[in-house]
Amino acid sequence: MNHGHDRKWVIVLDTSAFESGIPGTGGVPLFTTGSVVREIGRRKPRLMALIEEFISSGALKVRDPQRGSVNRIIKSAEDSGDAPRLSPTDIDVLALTYELSEEGLSASLLTNDISMQNTAHAAGLNATGSFAKAKTYITWMYYCPACHHRFQRPPPDMVCPYCGARIKRKPIERRKSS
Ligand SMILES: [Zn+2]
Repeated sequence: MNHGHDRKWVIVLDTSAFESGIPGTGGVPLFTTGSVVREIGRRKPRLMALIEEFISSGALKVRDPQRGSVNRIIKSAEDSGDAPRLSPTDIDVLALTYELSEEGLSASLLTNDISMQNTAHAAGLNATGSFAKAKTYITWMYYCPACHHRFQRPPPDMVCPYCGARIKRKPIERRKSS
């Protein structure tokens, strides 16, 4: 989606960004790294289920940065003094943001980690702790894959009362009312 800028906008999320809730982005593509997905898989199984649905729906792309991008970010982090506070996963996420920017995309890093924000800015990258102005949020839509009924609230047994099929859910974006 083009938001009136010349360059296509994408958002890169780190673990802290996923933990504080996936923002509604008006269809802007989301990116993260394999290392973030593995970290969440180990620590937050419920959040992992949501992330898997984002990946399978195509809304979230998982991509690992090239070695050259990683080296570039390590150098920036050493220059800015943030290197001791960054994990290999942090470096990966920063390197992916750098790489997407180098490819001509307008990449914004979403992270609550101050050291990551600092390193991003030192490397000339766009980073923020929140999209406070986001007008949408992500919620679940429950539906029957067989008869296509939709449910505001799913039956507790997750079985469709119309046809008996197992109810599924997918993440959808809703507009905030205020
Ligand atoms: Zn049904």
